Amino acid sequence: MTMDDTSHRIHNPAAPDEIVAEVTLTAPAGLPGLVANARRAQKEWAGVPGAQRAARLNAFLDDVEAACEEIATSITLEQGKPLAEARGEVMKSVSEGRAMAGHAMLAGTMAVASARPFVRNMIVRRPRGVITAITPWNFPILTPMRKIAPAIAYGNSIVLKPSEFTPTAAVILDRLARAHFPENLLTVVFGGAELGQALSTADIDGITFTGSVGVGRHILAAAAASNLAEVSLELGGKNAVVVNDFEDAGPALEAIVGAAMQCAGQRCTAISRVIVNDEIAEDFVAALSARCAAMIVGDGRSPTTQIGAITTAAQFSKIAGLVELGIKEGAVCTAGGGRAAVADRPHGRFYAPTVLDRVTPDMRIAGEEVFGPVLSVLRYRNFDEAIEIANAPRFGLTSALFSNRNDLINRFVDEVRSGMIHINQGTVPDSHMPFGGIGDSGFGSYSVGPSAVSFYTTEHSVYNQYG
Ligand code: NAD
Repeated sequence: MTMDDTSHRIHNPAAPDEIVAEVTLTAPAGLPGLVANARRAQKEWAGVPGAQRAARLNAFLDDVEAACEEIATSITLEQGKPLAEARGEVMKSVSEGRAMAGHAMLAGTMAVASARPFVRNMIVRRPRGVITAITPWNFPILTPMRKIAPAIAYGNSIVLKPSEFTPTAAVILDRLARAHFPENLLTVVFGGAELGQALSTADIDGITFTGSVGVGRHILAAAAASNLAEVSLELGGKNAVVVNDFEDAGPALEAIVGAAMQCAGQRCTAISRVIVNDEIAEDFVAALSARCAAMIVGDGRSPTTQIGAITTAAQFSKIAGLVELGIKEGAVCTAGGGRAAVADRPHGRFYAPTVLDRVTPDMRIAGEEVFGPVLSVLRYRNFDEAIEIANAPRFGLTSALFSNRNDLINRFVDEVRSGMIHINQGTVPDSHMPFGGIGDSGFGSYSVGPSAVSFYTTEHSVYNQYG
């Protein structure tokens, strides 16, 4: 990535000499005018009946689906993930958007009992207004669409700032949206931290942010000191899988490796810690390491690639530094552990899928988000210890348990500190279920599914005396 005053070039992480896109940067000074236009568009859109809004959103999603190949190619070129994964990301964004169109049609007025005669009480929901969305680089279409679809379905306008590393999917969405929505209902702006900061303090009504904890805190503080806009933060994770028992190790291994290594581990919901029962640990770690070592790392455009490039140079250094420190602190590397050499892409940012065994809770790699293809294995002797290790980090996004014991499953559901909980499966969420985290992993309402209504609408108590 290179930036000058007005234009911004994006480089391919698999071949950093290759420039794959260029966008024109938005001047922060122009934001008030863009927000004013978004506010006018929102007023018009709020007058469109909800069922029509849903139908138009679905027609837009048809176009997104039709542009799947173009969008997926841009994602692979800028973010680095294999093309098949990028196609899956496009289709998941469409299915989440369709689910939101359905939810929004069912949200609205609720009749409530009155305390007085001849008074009808209602709780009415209205569109919140102008929404700001600020998104990261790991899911260039899924995260923006997770904000665009509910904003539009519930009658808002939206100003989106995609990551400066992966802007092209948003450029395409902007182009497709023009055929379906009023002008300025979706506004896409380009820039980095300075523009993000200006957007967070603009005259807007809600900020939905996905990204790192540090920037999330910054945005919350900026909103508190300026516009007091409603804030929803989706932040990092240090997700654990507890492996207690199984009839067959195969499905558990497949689910864990998939959830850990998809997107080269650059997923907020990636499994990063394997907390394993000491009695089965030796064989399980050997099988896990063998599976990871066998994965094909390479350019996402190659159909055989299973793990693509690391998107940014800073992220690559962070992964390498945390793994080195983990080994220095006593972890035993049983797979990977460094840069992966890819013959035809000598300058690509490829990191080998890595397993670190004998990690202990006091090591930095045990508590810090790596956001790369790295699994830390921690061992336990009883289930109390497993829960204690799982709950140690301040993060609380998603978690999984492999066990056939009903008592342990119920304890896990009650005691693990995470917003999403999976039993005997990896950490892939459905398109219509609430998505979010607790502790350092999130703030405000969850997105996707029924929870989104509380962020994208405001609530009004109405008392109507009719007699
Ligand atoms: P980041 O926080 O560095 O950047 C995210 C976005 O914020 C970018 O668009 C960036 O330009 C903008 N930004 C940076 N500084 C800003 C500021 N001061 N004010 C306003 N905006 C600012 O995150 P990233 O490196 O792009 O993404 C990786 C992080 O995102 C990881 O921590 C990961 O866990 C998290 N993430 C969370 C989820 C989730 O749903 N919980 C999903 C994906 C990624």
